[in-house]
Amino acid sequence: MSRYREANCKVCKRNNEKLFLKGERCETPKCVIEKLRSDSRKKNFRAKRMSEYGIRLREKQKLRYSYGVTETQMRNNFKKASKMKGITGYNLLLNFERRIDNVIYRAGFASSRKAARQFALHGHFRLNDKKVDIPSILLKIGDEISVKKSSLERFKPVVEKMETENLPSWLSFDKARQKITV
Ligand code: SF4
Repeated sequence: MSRYREANCKVCKRNNEKLFLKGERCETPKCVIEKLRSDSRKKNFRAKRMSEYGIRLREKQKLRYSYGVTETQMRNNFKKASKMKGITGYNLLLNFERRIDNVIYRAGFASSRKAARQFALHGHFRLNDKKVDIPSILLKIGDEISVKKSSLERFKPVVEKMETENLPSWLSFDKARQKITV
């Protein structure tokens, strides 16, 4: 199965959970899940019983949709995670968090991972001063990402407002060099 291309809100609706796939809209009352929850007529819509397999499948799919990865990428990442030391589930999440599109999203350059993926694909960012246009690249400790010179104007407001304190603890921002380090 390839990347899911249907409306994002349908995914949330099917899982009966906010997966925050649409950026800022997810925080507003326009969110479909919020509407469903506030609609008293539909308050019982989650009463569906699921088998153990169904629950596990749904959790896996939620993870896949959240990070916007294909079934193949999911499988490959799981294999990789199971060979790493430690807990497989934790390693799997770690690998997804290390993807460059996720770092772009976490740094606040994009309002959703989907948008961050587009930015990475369009080559707006540089990894260790080298051009990069593959959203699934995994970053290592010490890797630096920066905005491509010609795209600086576009991301100027984000860069100007950026502070290390607002980033996840595993990212830091060097204002002078305008670089984010893992
Ligand atoms: Fe999901 Fe966001 Fe759509 Fe709400 S607005 S249903 S959280 S994608």
